[in-house]
Amino acid sequence: MAYQKPKGTADILPGESEKWQFVEETARLLFKDYEFHEIRTPIFEHYEVISRSVGDTTDIVSKEMYDFYDKGDRHITLRPEGTAPVVRSFVENKLFGPEFQKPYKTYYMGPMFRYERPQAGRFRQFHQIGVEVFGSTNPATDVETMMMAMDYYQQLGVNHIRLVINSLGSREDRQVYRQALIDYLEPHFDELSKDSQTRLHNNPLRVLDSKDQKDKVIVENAPSILDYLGEESAAFFNQVKDMLTALEVDFEIDHRMVRGLDYYNHTIFEIMSEAPGFGGAITTICAGGRYDGLVADLGGPETAGFGFALGIERAIITIEAEGAAIPMLNQIDAYVVGLGETTNIEALKLVQSIRQAGFSAERDFLNRKAKAQFKSANKLNARLVLTIGETELAEGTVNVKQMETRKEKTVLLEDIYTRFAEIYDELTEV
Ligand code: ATP
Ligand code: MG
Repeated sequence: MAYQKPKGTADILPGESEKWQFVEETARLLFKDYEFHEIRTPIFEHYEVISRSVGDTTDIVSKEMYDFYDKGDRHITLRPEGTAPVVRSFVENKLFGPEFQKPYKTYYMGPMFRYERPQAGRFRQFHQIGVEVFGSTNPATDVETMMMAMDYYQQLGVNHIRLVINSLGSREDRQVYRQALIDYLEPHFDELSKDSQTRLHNNPLRVLDSKDQKDKVIVENAPSILDYLGEESAAFFNQVKDMLTALEVDFEIDHRMVRGLDYYNHTIFEIMSEAPGFGGAITTICAGGRYDGLVADLGGPETAGFGFALGIERAIITIEAEGAAIPMLNQIDAYVVGLGETTNIEALKLVQSIRQAGFSAERDFLNRKAKAQFKSANKLNARLVLTIGETELAEGTVNVKQMETRKEKTVLLEDIYTRFAEIYDELTEV
């Protein structure tokens, strides 16, 4: 009986994992330039941490949670997103305290779990890179953080991207807008999709986000949230737009854009891929926004928040759709060819000593013929091939060949063991 991985999950195999490392490393290096530091929270959380922050009526909480009761009868869920856990940790560890930098800037990367219908770019275990900024109500934080996300895709070689923003206003603004939206939608109740009918009263903003064709037509003429922003919210949104303009960034405003998580207010944004090869209905590769009430909701002091999350799977699909190159380390410094079983120990000593000198090395383990071993060396793109047979072993030497120039040289084993770096430089210098 051979088993298969659970639906909606993936094995990331060697050959593919190098791409993941590139995407992750690029994030680490860039985020450091913006003075973000990494946080690692547990993969599972108390159910309430997620339900209270993301919202009971959202799809994530009502349909997609991987939750269970543990042996101690605690209600646990695998995390479906990163912000709620980070906020829980921020409060629990009192990261708002005077000893910490303000704003407090942190990032995470790792698996998230949602019980969704798997399709291209949508999985049940997927991986996000996300950032959070705590304690700044300055719109420059919104803009800086959005720019970091844009910079990130540029560093990945992804240029066909679009920044779309909107404002959800304050909680009070949204209360008023919510009623206006219900008033507009109610007369259309019978024409709405089943999902939208349910959402109409418990989460009407989500109707704006419906993928149903008929819903979309109805939503066309719905009132705009931007007409319901109070004075302060409107001024804040104007500052965000002015700052983006000052940075000469192209952006669009989509007044129908909402988010699938309830904690957002004021600025929200999405980054869409416009790569010609980026197929399917899915175009959003990064999403986030401001969540000023969330820290207080989870028991902390009133603290502003801004963050985003992007999917690693979708980042890789986007890079490939753009035809951008993913740099791969596809060369090793030395390959040791051992001829005859008597060279087994010496070959082992050789690769170990080369590695201890700080170089990469591989050897044969299958006692294959010279030709097959050279083939492996070529396949691994070895710069040097060290060949040791019984004669060399008896003489205490090894034949070293520079694969590019085909130059060869007999070298004392002793020299490899004591000064490999020099020999490597001598033989590989151009
Ligand atoms: P979508 O509208 O695509 O469902 P979302 O609004 O649920 O996305 P967020 O929860 O804001 O997305 O997550 C941010 C990013 O995480 C998305 O832009 C996407 O890149 C990635 N993401 C979200 N859900 C999945 C999933 N099931 N599989 C793969 N990536 C995902
Ligand atoms: Mg979703």
